[in-house]
Amino acid sequence: MERKCVVLLSGGLDSALAARLMCEQGVEVQALFLSMSWGCCEKEKAQVCAQQLGVPLLILSVGDAYLDVIRRPRYGYGSGMNPCVDCRIYMFRIAKRYMEEIGAGFVVTGEVLGQRPMSQMRRPLAIIEADSGLEGLLLRPLSAQLLEPTLPELLGVVDRQRLLRIAGRARQEQMALASAAGLSGYATPAGGCLLTDEHFADKTRDLFAHEERPTTKDMELLTIGRHFRIGPKTKVILGRNAVENLLLEGHAQAGYTCLRPKFAGPSALMTGEGSEEARHLAATLIVHHTKAEKRPEGLLEFWMDGRPWTVDPAAAEAAGHAVDAVKL
Ligand code: SF4
Repeated sequence: MERKCVVLLSGGLDSALAARLMCEQGVEVQALFLSMSWGCCEKEKAQVCAQQLGVPLLILSVGDAYLDVIRRPRYGYGSGMNPCVDCRIYMFRIAKRYMEEIGAGFVVTGEVLGQRPMSQMRRPLAIIEADSGLEGLLLRPLSAQLLEPTLPELLGVVDRQRLLRIAGRARQEQMALASAAGLSGYATPAGGCLLTDEHFADKTRDLFAHEERPTTKDMELLTIGRHFRIGPKTKVILGRNAVENLLLEGHAQAGYTCLRPKFAGPSALMTGEGSEEARHLAATLIVHHTKAEKRPEGLLEFWMDGRPWTVDPAAAEAAGHAVDAVKL
């Protein structure tokens, strides 16, 4: 077996430490970050960790197929709409393919026995290993001495005696080890996945109920702004601050309509069919979310997909009343 492994680097403390333990044993490390803007991993932190560890990092998107994992998880959800066991299986299958592609011998993760009730107890750890096709090839260095030896340990590629026996939710031991190893760029352990948030879960359910083939871009949009469902295929998303306004404007392309007020109100992105009524309702929502003192007198002026568009406020209200808007 090659003394080379793929480490799933999340940007958090545990995976950084797992990678460090491999480096200390002289195992060649290739780090992999699987990106989803709603998940529990932080790309920038993973980049800093990789830099501090001195290991190469590949960043990949989880891809649209991941959304099927959220929609129909074989092993169910956690507290919200988080399919943690299926999520890990999906990610570890990608890591396995990458391991084979680069000729690495095994995959390493920062999982800790008993740290998370849904995915890090003995049974789910075993299911994840088996269903991802990594039986014997999935090394969890932080808890390794509490788990069955893996192939790299049995073959002497990795020295089991130098691996750890950490269990449970406390992080003091990991923090002390990270500090001694000079690792500081990791994310705070409390960093969370939006799928565990009930409000985000509601928005996700709404997306799945209305889109046959949702994309990761649709999911990314759920992380930005206030969402209003105004039709089976149409939503209006309003920015909550200047950064979100810019992000929404940046998302505008075919299939979307972007409405940017010429007054100091929020930008709106309309997804799906942009009917006349929908545009008027979006204009009304923008006005309602503009501070009273900033609302214009008389006609409302916008940029619509970069072109000027002017509408009478009374006409916008009247036309907008023909459409129901449900705040998500
Ligand atoms: S919390 Fe669970 S569902 Fe969310 S990214 Fe982590 S493993 Fe996946």
